Amino acid sequence: MKSVVLLGATGSIGEQTLEIIEQYPERFKLVAATANHSVKALEAIVHKHDIKIVAIAESHVAAFDDRQCYSATNLDQLINDLEDDVVVVNALVGAVGLKPTMAALKRGFDVLLANKETLVVGGAVIMPLLKESSAKLIPIDSEHSALAQCLRGSRVEDVDKVVITASGGSFRDLDKAALENVTVKDALKHPNWSMGAKITIDSATMMNKVFEVIEAHYLFDLPYHKIEAVLHRESIVHGMVHFVDGNVLMHAGPADMRIPILSALEGDLIRLPYRSVFDITKIKSLSFETIDPIRYSLFDLGIAVARKEGLHTVTMNAANEVAVALFLEGKIAFNAIEEIITDCLLAFDNGYEISLDAILQLDAQVRAYVEKKYMDGE
Ligand code: MG
Repeated sequence: MKSVVLLGATGSIGEQTLEIIEQYPERFKLVAATANHSVKALEAIVHKHDIKIVAIAESHVAAFDDRQCYSATNLDQLINDLEDDVVVVNALVGAVGLKPTMAALKRGFDVLLANKETLVVGGAVIMPLLKESSAKLIPIDSEHSALAQCLRGSRVEDVDKVVITASGGSFRDLDKAALENVTVKDALKHPNWSMGAKITIDSATMMNKVFEVIEAHYLFDLPYHKIEAVLHRESIVHGMVHFVDGNVLMHAGPADMRIPILSALEGDLIRLPYRSVFDITKIKSLSFETIDPIRYSLFDLGIAVARKEGLHTVTMNAANEVAVALFLEGKIAFNAIEEIITDCLLAFDNGYEISLDAILQLDAQVRAYVEKKYMDGE
């Protein structure tokens, strides 16, 4: 029986993780869950799973005074106070996922990571921790779950390159000029996947694929020149590994996040039965294209930032988080997301003195810069 701590229990990945946990009560038990402002949804989880440990935004803490309740800004404390061995599912959104990931690895708890921003901003501090720890970092991301399965039993030095696929997001059929006038409602209509709002926007700008390249770099210890992304409209093939001897393994399956969630929860040793409908004869064609650097200019910019390493990934992520939030609130246009990220990369120097403090400090500075300049309409 695995005890599961679920950070971000009321989001899209959180809800699907709960579905999986509920499907295998003899295998997985929820012991703690956290949310931000979704009090009612968290209450329902608390009662259904009879959990004693929760976290919620500071202003709602009183609603859980019959439980061991933490502030959502203090998740590392929640993890530090845990008495028994657990696995931590990190389904938080944004750089806020970094500290609890570090706390869990320090405790020797496996982290099942859906929060890709953890590695985008903190890969350089996470990896040394991981080397010292007995714990594993296991991806909950369809592409990385696919790569992990293709890489099972192989040596990283035998990998020629890995390829992850991108659907192209909600505006893939629009040219760059047409993006001027798109609405939030249109942006949230992803062609293939049902996901949370932030990642759906990141998918439309292709920032999500930049994050996933960074994620692959750290997770599989591969240099950037061995990681590619291609446009694949059908979202059937999620990842592929080219080996040096000419063999290419591809992973295919339905666009259902419960599959990578289950794979992460079950680990390497077993495969639990899961009903999934995948009929290859219904798939008429599979297409693969290079990602157009002019149409998806943010992808090109993001990859250049990633390849330089250093703290600019923190700047890029913080600018993106605030810009996407402003877009979702209807305060800026879709194209302003890229403008804001470019502005911040010019305004803040890249740095190579990477520590948790340096990351958190820069993250706060960039957020403050964007909020002041773009929210006040300066
Ligand atoms: Mg993905």
